[in-house]
Amino acid sequence: MSKFQPAGSHFIGGEYVEDLAGTPFDVIFPGTGETIAQLHAATPEIVSRAVASAKQAQSGWEAMTGTERGRVLRRAADIMRARNHELSVLETHDTGKPLQETLVADATSGADALEYFGGLAASLTGETIPLADGDMVFTIREALGVCVGIGAWNYPTQIACWKAAPALACGNAMVFKPSEMTPLSALKVAEILIEAGAPAGIFNVVQGMGEVGAQLVADDRVAKVSLTGSVPTGRKVYAAAAAGMKHVTMELGGKSPLVVFEDADIEDAVSGAILGNFYSSGQVCSNGTRVFVHRSIRESFLERLIDRLGNAVLGDPRDETTSFGPMVSEAQLAIVERYVEQGIEEGARLVTGGERLDRPGFWMPPTVFSDVTDRMTIAREEIFGPVMCVLDFDTEEEVMARANDTQFGLAAGVFTRDLARAHRVARGFEAGTCYINTYNDAPVEAPFGGVKLSGVGRENSKAAIEHYSQIKSIYLRLSPLEAPF
Ligand code: NAD
Repeated sequence: MSKFQPAGSHFIGGEYVEDLAGTPFDVIFPGTGETIAQLHAATPEIVSRAVASAKQAQSGWEAMTGTERGRVLRRAADIMRARNHELSVLETHDTGKPLQETLVADATSGADALEYFGGLAASLTGETIPLADGDMVFTIREALGVCVGIGAWNYPTQIACWKAAPALACGNAMVFKPSEMTPLSALKVAEILIEAGAPAGIFNVVQGMGEVGAQLVADDRVAKVSLTGSVPTGRKVYAAAAAGMKHVTMELGGKSPLVVFEDADIEDAVSGAILGNFYSSGQVCSNGTRVFVHRSIRESFLERLIDRLGNAVLGDPRDETTSFGPMVSEAQLAIVERYVEQGIEEGARLVTGGERLDRPGFWMPPTVFSDVTDRMTIAREEIFGPVMCVLDFDTEEEVMARANDTQFGLAAGVFTRDLARAHRVARGFEAGTCYINTYNDAPVEAPFGGVKLSGVGRENSKAAIEHYSQIKSIYLRLSPLEAPF
């Protein structure tokens, strides 16, 4: 087997673990369709063992000072950065994303999260609330206990770190289940945390399909579930977590609007549309896939867009000059192909792309539809592929109503030179993350998450601390205690 074959499918209690009784599954390099590793899904015994390991390690970890926990996380960040190239090569093989992207957006953003939350860990304090006669209440910020993280396949390292870093900073332990499509890099995160000095059992990884995730969510020893995935999965996981009254963070899908006004800088707006539709071959949850362009500039916008798409390099993802990679899997490519057919059937104009490339791997080129109307399927459903829909509009009032006419609410963007309009529009968007004259930035310092069906809770920033800790109030009475009898 290849150099990407891990020493075991799972990582539990500080070491690789294998259980050949689990259903085998292949890890495929989407650039060619070749198998690069074979893993086994976790059996119920493995899942239970991982939760037990986390449970056992958690209290000792929480008992350490925040400074000590933070030091471990910051060391892990340093190790990730030092190994960025090797981790990026792995991520490229696991996901198919070009090395040009993985070198700057995956292990590096994971390291940012570890560093940021490592820095915060020592300052997680409560407050003192004075009452009458010197009595008081003081609050303690406590860990939740064992947290479960469940990941999607588009940013495997980043997702693992965006969940693990705040969880561990707050004194929790985690069991993480990566997507079965991209299982390899979370194992590296686990290895690196151990090397950085994390106690065994603080971060465990189990592999498998949805049922492994479902078993984790149903486990009574689990206090919190953070899912990054689709809305249908989010509904199931949220409901299962509710049965046990567990905390949740839901990072789900979107169909975000990107509005380009007539006074926008066209080059910037085209850059925003490219970043918001074709980075990671369009497999980004916050993508601005409904591009509303003011009717008066539609043709010039499309012209520049098509020109610039001609510069995309669809080559071997392992080659640093490649700027556009394959879809993650044959199944995802088939989904995207069906949406393209539907777009054509429903009357949208296919401007470019739309046909899979005749080469090994799962390739769909950048695809643009214009003349898209609000009711078309391609304008309503998340495609999760490199398919941009261009819609025309005439007035701000009209475009705001149409932009918000969706069940999703993850992100939204506006391009305009009019400062007042930019603020008004951003405030008017029904979305958790909004962009003015930029698109798809996600620095760890800023809260990230959705409204409506796109999610619950926030990742990153200080806001994430609220979702991985709970406040205990302790009443302290100094004065004599009276009772009615
Ligand atoms: P998915 O919903 O199919 O799977 C997500 C994860 O959930 C996988 O690990 C899967 O095995 C697991 N799972 C499936 N059924 C489960 C169940 N019943 N119980 C527990 N776990 C279960 O999503 P995907 O296809 O891997 O990823 C694409 C989706 O993720 C898109 O909708 C995208 O928008 C979304 N996404 C959201 C964000 C965000 O931050 N908001 C980021 C990336 C991706």
